Amino acid sequence: MPIEQTLVLIKPDGFKRGLTGLVMDRLDAAGLELVAAKMVRVTEKLAREHYRELSDKPFFPNLIRYIRGEFHDLKQNQVLALVYQGDNAIARTRQAAGATNPEQADPRSIRGSFGRVTTQGQFENVLHASGNLADAEREVQLWFKPEEILTPIYTAAAANGKKK
Ligand code: UDP
Ligand code: MG
Repeated sequence: MPIEQTLVLIKPDGFKRGLTGLVMDRLDAAGLELVAAKMVRVTEKLAREHYRELSDKPFFPNLIRYIRGEFHDLKQNQVLALVYQGDNAIARTRQAAGATNPEQADPRSIRGSFGRVTTQGQFENVLHASGNLADAEREVQLWFKPEEILTPIYTAAAANGKKK
């Protein structure tokens, strides 16, 4: 199994509801190893870059507002950004997180247990977890400098979306 690293963000709903420790407990229990952590002010630019592949979706404008804490009164636009490492870490973190739509997520997953769909149709699903290796490589490098990660494994080339 390949050693992978994956980006996790505690989204504003998770932060505001006091679910940060719970999410980290679940990821610990899944056997994932924490190798980086910091609070980040999410600028409009960072939010748009993070979700750039979704920029033509109808939910994109509200997604940017959501990740910047505008629906949860987060004055500092803050999220907790984490990097987890392990064998097959990307898929294992997604498994612990559950499906994107909390109503369809396994009820025992983090999103199934604690996510909700707002009456406006926004998925408030507690955490972000990188979807695949290309996303993980790009996202870990977007949110963290190599020196902020205990054991960085991804190279700069992948951050620009280039094939290695
Ligand atoms: N999202 C939404 N409505 C949708 C699809 C996505 O509000 O119909 C939001 C949701 O917060 C999701 C994020 O956009 O987590 C990113 O979407 P993606 O398809 O990448 O899902 P994820 O990788 O987070 O499971
Ligand atoms: Mg995704």
